Amino acid sequence: MAEEWVFPKGELMRGKRGLIMGVANDKSIAWGIASQLAAQGAEIAFTYQGEALEKRVRPLVESIGAKIMLECDATNDAQLDAAFAELEKQWGGLDFLVHSIAFSDKNELKGSFVENTSRENFLRSMDISAFSFVAAGKRASKLMKRNGSMITMTYLGAERVLPSYNVMGVAKAALEASMRYMARDLGPSGIRVNAISAGAMRTLAIAGIQGGRGLIATGREWSVMKEDTSMEGIAGCALWLLSDLGRSTTGEVVHVDAGFHIVGVPDTGGE
Ligand code: NAD
Repeated sequence: MAEEWVFPKGELMRGKRGLIMGVANDKSIAWGIASQLAAQGAEIAFTYQGEALEKRVRPLVESIGAKIMLECDATNDAQLDAAFAELEKQWGGLDFLVHSIAFSDKNELKGSFVENTSRENFLRSMDISAFSFVAAGKRASKLMKRNGSMITMTYLGAERVLPSYNVMGVAKAALEASMRYMARDLGPSGIRVNAISAGAMRTLAIAGIQGGRGLIATGREWSVMKEDTSMEGIAGCALWLLSDLGRSTTGEVVHVDAGFHIVGVPDTGGE
């Protein structure tokens, strides 16, 4: 297990205001990022997917003294427009965006990709897990000045074939490519766009993947550091990319997975 630790409080995000999309509960990666950004002085607004999640998200939001919490299903253009209009009204601008949203039918996150992927779920997975970053990023960019920064969350399944990840891997590949095109388009305005490729974490999202626990165990055993990916490590990377520490870094996929992604074949001790 990775050693538990927290960052000292600081001022790296003081004066910055941003939107975090994708908190479902206190295990969400979006929440891990939010709590560290708040400890560095960021002012944060949150979107949540629907009424059912509101009661879980509200106490978290209140625990860091955040004031803006907006319902927004990422497939609903009217809700996206309303959320960003509200941010413009209340803040007049935006410094950062965290997109931490993905969905696919869990019946298709198992077995054969070729046999199990339906047209309907392929398109829905793409819409929620890839296009929603483009849709949110477009709206966020209109509120950003130079030094604005956006991140999204991706996984190694975009680059390599992993068991059960199936259509979600295809959606993550589209997400990573979208991130690079967004970085190209928004770069001249001084806005940076990056992705964090996190190692497998125990969240709601991974529960939908058959063998998700196996992905966590293999991620630990194969990783060069021989430990789980830590939420602090992911949040620390987000802090780097979203603060002025990340100036000049854009269009990048940064792996935060204890080195899992560099291993081709696990070390069997020479046997
Ligand atoms: P999570 O379940 O806590 O977060 C997923 C979020 O997506 C939830 O808040 C959910 O409400 C939101 N969402 C799904 N459909 C939506 C929609 N239509 N509109 C708005 N929101 C919607 O799980 P997580 O692991 O924190 O996932 C966050 C991101 O991190 C995802 O993109 C996921 O693919 C990525 N990621 C996760 C892992 C992992 O092992 N858990 C590893 C790498 C990347």
